[in-house]
Amino acid sequence: RPTDLVTLIDQMIDRLNPLAVEQQVALVRTTAQQTWTVNVDPHRMAQVFYNLLSNALRYTPSGGSITIGIAHGEQAQSDCAVVSIADTGMGIPPEKLPYVFDRFYRVEEARSRHNGGMGLGLAIAKEFVEANEGSISVQSTVGRGTTFNVSLPLT
Ligand code: ATP
Ligand code: MG
Repeated sequence: RPTDLVTLIDQMIDRLNPLAVEQQVALVRTTAQQTWTVNVDPHRMAQVFYNLLSNALRYTPSGGSITIGIAHGEQAQSDCAVVSIADTGMGIPPEKLPYVFDRFYRVEEARSRHNGGMGLGLAIAKEFVEANEGSISVQSTVGRGTTFNVSLPLT
């Protein structure tokens, strides 16, 4: 279904903003007010953004920020929208990074036990994005932050 990514992202930002304010983390969307239309199930796509944003909030200490941007990309010769979600949080050690999309994988039980999830969010996100001819990747630096990039073909 044709779905505008900016609309979905704004909905998720609105939903998570009270939590962000409480945690003193800024949620910032940097893209211009234009449309980026991709062919996906909007509810499942919203879940993907919700997971990425709530992860970022969970692992970013107060005073930090989460920046959401959308840029043009290309993948297998087709035009893509690339959504980036960049936090200034604790980061993920390089040796753990290859496993974050695995089912039930959590980097460190202790650090997130109190508000812990199942370790499924990123696995579900990757499955969904790839099923829609897209891709998801992560870059991270311990102590500096983490960036997830979600690429989806434009309609
Ligand atoms: P669930 O999403 O099922 O509620 P979860 O959030 O623990 O549980 P994932 O979303 O799959 O699971 O994330 C897997 C692991 O990757 C997390 O437990 C966390 O250790 C690490 N992680 C994910 N996002 C970030 C981030 N932005 N900064 C630091 N670590 C992260
Ligand atoms: Mg999660």
